[in-house]
Amino acid sequence: MPTGRSRRSRRSSPTSSASTDRVPIILHGVSASPGIVVGPAHLLRWEVPEVRSRVIEDGEVDAEIARLRAAIEAAVERLRGVKVRAEENAGPAEAAIFDVQVAILQDAELRARVETLVRQNLSAEKAFDLVMLEWREHFGRSTNPMMRERVGDLVDVHIRLLSLLLDLPDHDPVDLEPGSNAILVTHDLTPSLTIQLDRRAIAGIATDAGTRTSHVAILARSLGLPAVVGLIDATSKLQMGDRVILDGSNGTLIPRPTAAVLAQFADRARREQAAQAELATLVGAEAVMTDGTRVTLRANVDLPDEAVRAAESGAEGVGLMRTEFLVVGRTAMPSEDEQEEAYSRVVKAFAGHPVVIRTYDVGGDKLPIGGFPHEPNPFLGWRAIRMCLDEPELFKVQLRALLRAAVHGDVRIMLPLVVSVDEVRQARYLLSEAAAELVRRGIPHRADVPLGVMVETPAAAMSADSFADDVAFFSIGTNDLVQYTLAVDRGNASLVTRYTPLHPAVLRLIARTVEAARVAKLEVSVCGEMASQPLMAFALLGLGIRVLSVSASGIPAVKRLVRGVSATAATAAADAALACATAREAEAVLRAALGEQLGEELLDGLLGLG
Ligand code: PEP
Ligand code: MG
Repeated sequence: MPTGRSRRSRRSSPTSSASTDRVPIILHGVSASPGIVVGPAHLLRWEVPEVRSRVIEDGEVDAEIARLRAAIEAAVERLRGVKVRAEENAGPAEAAIFDVQVAILQDAELRARVETLVRQNLSAEKAFDLVMLEWREHFGRSTNPMMRERVGDLVDVHIRLLSLLLDLPDHDPVDLEPGSNAILVTHDLTPSLTIQLDRRAIAGIATDAGTRTSHVAILARSLGLPAVVGLIDATSKLQMGDRVILDGSNGTLIPRPTAAVLAQFADRARREQAAQAELATLVGAEAVMTDGTRVTLRANVDLPDEAVRAAESGAEGVGLMRTEFLVVGRTAMPSEDEQEEAYSRVVKAFAGHPVVIRTYDVGGDKLPIGGFPHEPNPFLGWRAIRMCLDEPELFKVQLRALLRAAVHGDVRIMLPLVVSVDEVRQARYLLSEAAAELVRRGIPHRADVPLGVMVETPAAAMSADSFADDVAFFSIGTNDLVQYTLAVDRGNASLVTRYTPLHPAVLRLIARTVEAARVAKLEVSVCGEMASQPLMAFALLGLGIRVLSVSASGIPAVKRLVRGVSATAATAAADAALACATAREAEAVLRAALGEQLGEELLDGLLGLG
């Protein structure tokens, strides 16, 4: 079952509009962040260009070296400009990545090596290409994480200088003027591209790669930018500057639309905005089911900057703060003070409400510290709590920052990717050491912060009862739970129809976790994407979940859902879904039951916004 309104086909198709003189093409992808926008495509091909071998004559060597040096100077100049823009958009610590790239270009050894090859009659571009390939290979194989971390910078420098030497278009998104209303179309959004994004210039994002649960999608929702991901080959179907309609709600991209199609979409956009405006009136309303059952809606916060907006959305606290985004594109881990400041900002924005902060979940598809280690199976590899427990000094910086931020409110600490209670016990030991260090330094903090776990592996769900004495709460991370249960890579755009959260195995694991929490009298919430999709949220309510955490922009639609259904009907529908043999059958059962509760018109409206 496609999740929500994901793709209908992996290929492009003509629209059904009969009133147009030519049949427009629709590119189908995955809805990553809702909203409809129209604007010029800003095509960003951030890939190492192919370099053909070219041999130069002896008499051309000096001129070729001069050309190489001029290109390096131009690239350095460009990077300095990029850094200034990144500082404005993301902050000085993040922008420091560009200093590293300047230093690579100015590295004497690198320049000498390239010039030697030019003196041996290779063209400047071929010489530079060969040396960069060597360096990337060498750094990538290093056992030193600091060296591996540089591979991403080497790739960026590789692309930037070759583009200059080959006279290729410079696609940097930083050149967009505020107000350009551009639709960024790119293969994938890397950390260095992410921090260059100027939200005043970009109205939407479209990527070839990615799925609803991949990080580009999560980031787009955090920024409130309409986005379609998993388009497979949009970058090869569009030209720079093409006018496009990006339909983040239906997961489509329409290049060069006719006037008639534009009018249709303008009409839909107006209706969507009206529906959103209607939902916005629910901000102050309680999330209560028709039979009086109370539900708690919290926000997922990915960037500290969005905390205030999230608090204004009616969220009763933060159910998941992802801290990996603090290390986006950074050259070093954020300091204890810097982290304390970021966490405190969120805690203060939600004064009086719980703020669940997850410890670093890096590795797998997440942002690298120390570069991505070369692992055969990164999703099953050294990541999240595993990495933190193996790097206690790095982990304790974060734990101390969390204990310090806790003096401002109700902070709760959550551990990701846990499979065994041993991991919780080790983390608790490190937490007590972190508290003792703060006592020694005389720094105000709270030592009694609740410690909970994400249930996002089948192991944790199956053995949830064995955690009961050691944790203060469970939060079900369905994005990973689905991936690990079904053995389907959540980030692989070509597997998207096989990523089926309503599979009976997933529903049973959730039911089992809820039961373990009930017996142990522990809070259990859901903070994965299932919570924000109305049909699935209905199933979760039926399975007994009473705390849901979704992106701030998704809260009104989920609240509308909660207020339109009864706990009894949700339970009956979830029981029926649990008894189904397939996700498709479960979806049909839930849809029929939800249609009865809400009426078809409201249901269709909500399914279009989730
Ligand atoms: C999850 O796995 O469901 C989750 C919420 O965490 P993330 O998407 O960051 O892996
Ligand atoms: Mg997860």
